[in-house]
Amino acid sequence: MTRTEIEEYIKAYDRDRYQCVCGKRAVMIGHCLDRTLVNIKKFGKEVIQNHNNLRAVCSLSCNTVVRVSKENEREILFNLIKDNLNNILPVEYINKKIKEE
Ligand SMILES: [Zn+2]
Repeated sequence: MTRTEIEEYIKAYDRDRYQCVCGKRAVMIGHCLDRTLVNIKKFGKEVIQNHNNLRAVCSLSCNTVVRVSKENEREILFNLIKDNLNNILPVEYINKKIKEE
């Protein structure tokens, strides 16, 4: 892991107060836009590793819950992250934005 990745993880853990979406204590970080080579090529490393793309989660099954898989939602999320690389957006705000268009 690079220093940048660690810093982004810390921002995500702090924002989520180490709490998973299910309410349990988070022990890992999940990516909304999955951290795959295809996605890194498509969206850019800067977006994939950004804190706005990360969620504190408790398990692999909750990791699956936070993953965004619908193509239109992925595009909205990508644009939101790209425009807010240095802003810590509330997760509720991001989720609302993804669903409303
Ligand atoms: Zn959970």
